[in-house]
Amino acid sequence: MTDVKKIAVIAGDGIGPEVVAEAEKVLKKAEELYGYSFETEHALFGGIAIDEKGTPLPEETLAICKSADAVLLGAVGGPKWDNNSKELRPETGLLGIRKALGLFSNLRPAVVFDCLKEASTLKPEVLEGTDLMVVRELTGGIYFGEKLRRQGEHGEEAVDTCVYNVTEIERITRQAFEIAQKRRKKLASVDKANVLETSRLWRETVNRIAPDYPDVELEHVLVDNCAMQLLRRPSSFDVIVTENMFGDILSDEAAMLTGSIGMLASASMGDSTDAGSFGLYEPVHGSAPDIAGQGLANPIATILSVALMFRLTFNYAEAADAIEAAVAKVLDEGHRTADIAVDKSKALSTSQMGDLIVAAMQKA
Ligand code: NAD
Repeated sequence: MTDVKKIAVIAGDGIGPEVVAEAEKVLKKAEELYGYSFETEHALFGGIAIDEKGTPLPEETLAICKSADAVLLGAVGGPKWDNNSKELRPETGLLGIRKALGLFSNLRPAVVFDCLKEASTLKPEVLEGTDLMVVRELTGGIYFGEKLRRQGEHGEEAVDTCVYNVTEIERITRQAFEIAQKRRKKLASVDKANVLETSRLWRETVNRIAPDYPDVELEHVLVDNCAMQLLRRPSSFDVIVTENMFGDILSDEAAMLTGSIGMLASASMGDSTDAGSFGLYEPVHGSAPDIAGQGLANPIATILSVALMFRLTFNYAEAADAIEAAVAKVLDEGHRTADIAVDKSKALSTSQMGDLIVAAMQKA
């Protein structure tokens, strides 16, 4: 009997439904090519869930995700909900779903496709050979610490607290070392240990467990320096591990190395990144309200997120390779959505790009 894989599909807001529709075409094509069987269940999340259910993360959505083998997420948010109270903001749902599903690491590969070097704002010779992975801690740090507003000596003040414990640092660091072992065996741990106490604990913890991974070359890089080095020598990085907010910022910076944020996939994982592990897969970009509903969105980040899902959760490496090869082929042939096109007048729509990638998928 065919092994049926359950995928919770959360389209979300803005361009979310547009790019997820293209990723679903890829799932269908993989079923045809390889005889896989996917059972997809759609769930409401983010702004649309606030409108229809009064909360960004309805219980029903969480239940669907928990009973699935993997989650495919588009994007959430938009100006309509920007002035809502904290509980009624789509982003609160994002933080909540990661916590509720025990997802503490966010893996963001940034690979520069040769044919897209011209779409980047950096010089081609600087980008040559860039293939890095940002491993971002997802459930701790300043995004989750206590927040408050108060009256101070000089008027109203706001406080955000950054907290990390050793367990949180150790589990993400071990995962990053293990990922580095499977790649080029280089790990850059990024912190701000010259100023922040959480960063000093981070660095101590990384140094304490580093001897368990003697085959991995470790360097510590201060976050401000890392931001600069990513633009100066991106190809020298292999795996970068860092805390929540630094990872959020650095991975968007890394996204631009690839030419567009519309190219970058991500996986959010729990205790394991071994084949068969539960994960949530989503493009790095947001809901792009400025281009939503116009068929302008690049679906490649979401399609490559399906490849990551195949690799990490389902152990369907062959199909993951087929998706990545199809994306490379279509780009090599010169097809572009507007965000990566030099000549915007020839740009493809979201669904045209999705269709071309599906058509290019071949069994090896
Ligand atoms: P964004 O990533 O949505 O957009 C930034 C810029 O990149 C925009 O100009 C947009 O048009 C462009 N862009 C993004 N994805 C693209 C794609 N696939 N193809 C072509 N162009 C693309 O970031 P933002 O504007 O800061 O945020 C918009 C909304 O998205 C906000 O409400 C924010 O909170 C939310 N957001 C959600 C997520 C998520 O769901 N994980 C992540 C980031 C931002």
